[in-house]
Amino acid sequence: MKTYRIACIPGDGIGQEVVPAGQAVLEALAASQSAFRFVFTPFDWGGDYYRRHGRMMPVDGLEQLRGQDAILFGSAGDPDIADHITLWGLRLKICQGFDQYANVRPTRILPGIDGPLKRCPPGALDWVIVRENSEGEYAGVGGRVHQGQPIEAATDVSVMTRAGVLRIMRFAFRLAQSRPRKLLTVVTKSNAQRHAMVMWDEIAQEVSREFPDVRWDKELVDACTARMVNRPASLDTLVATNLHADILSDLAAALAGSLGIAPTGNIDPERRYPSMFEPIHGSAFDIMGQGLANPVGTFWSCVMLLEHLGEAAAAARLMAAIESVTADPALHTRDLGGQARTADVTRAVCARVAAPQPVPQPA
Ligand code: NAD
Ligand code: MN
Repeated sequence: MKTYRIACIPGDGIGQEVVPAGQAVLEALAASQSAFRFVFTPFDWGGDYYRRHGRMMPVDGLEQLRGQDAILFGSAGDPDIADHITLWGLRLKICQGFDQYANVRPTRILPGIDGPLKRCPPGALDWVIVRENSEGEYAGVGGRVHQGQPIEAATDVSVMTRAGVLRIMRFAFRLAQSRPRKLLTVVTKSNAQRHAMVMWDEIAQEVSREFPDVRWDKELVDACTARMVNRPASLDTLVATNLHADILSDLAAALAGSLGIAPTGNIDPERRYPSMFEPIHGSAFDIMGQGLANPVGTFWSCVMLLEHLGEAAAAARLMAAIESVTADPALHTRDLGGQARTADVTRAVCARVAAPQPVPQPA
């Protein structure tokens, strides 16, 4: 039997509710078969750790994670600590330290979910957004001078490298090629940003020649938001910069019904380091500690984790269990207009992975 070592980092807010739920679902899945098992290692990093130690994770934190096969992450963000400290001190430290340069964000409207796109036929919204996850607008380059003075100035400099753009474009074209429609949209803003984004477009053009069977187009990021709403079926795989994809994927999640459903993987495609899987939502201060958090985004992230480990059959089984649960409105949490609690949804998914049921198809 194979053993997978999984690091669990719940972090802050509802991360502390959804990550244990994800672990419970993975445990139920492992118990239902004999091909693999999990060894989970918890890490108590985040806001509380910061209050005790003055940092979000230990100095040798990355070393502690290095031997793991994958990381299941919750959220970084504490009501009493500045967001740039929590984000840069934990999540970005891991993403950048482990060079998880491809951030993959699938979006679909799951069975039973009432999305806001009323004119959208079932199946018309089925996207994967690939986010450049290592540089660009979030490179961390910049500074502040004359702080507090009238002449104060500050910069956040977006840095794009040829190597960084090449590798994310290749990853996105390869992913588009692996999906049935073989369709990629390169999101850009090269009309207004006339240096790095022009290079981005040029490299997309170069890489496209390596993938003659992939159809691709270019869309300006602002126009892309409208296209997502008005013509969702015209999109399949998208690739965008760190900032653009950050924003587009929250829009995608909302169009698919709720921020609470959307998953993501921070992936090192070269597998030099562990990859990290997490729901895209944050700490949700307004509902934390109340058992109201929707755990589906974490469960779907567990599906991506299983796919990354090469356990495609187990991943498909978990996805089927999730879809059979979303199909039942009695198992919808409050963000979906229901009354179910985190524990109800978790119990239902655990029961269904133990005893698989057919997935209801949309009418
Ligand atoms: P948020 O995602 O935490 O919450 C936005 C809204 O969506 C809230 O109303 C919340 O209740 C709701 N929501 C989110 N997830 C939900 C779920 N699973 N179930 C039900 N409802 C859910 O975003 P925010 O309010 O902008 O940020 C709060 C904190 O989280 C900030 O500190 C921010 O920096 C941090 N954050 C962290 C990450 C991360 O670690 N990956 C991502 C986004 C935000
Ligand atoms: Mn975001």
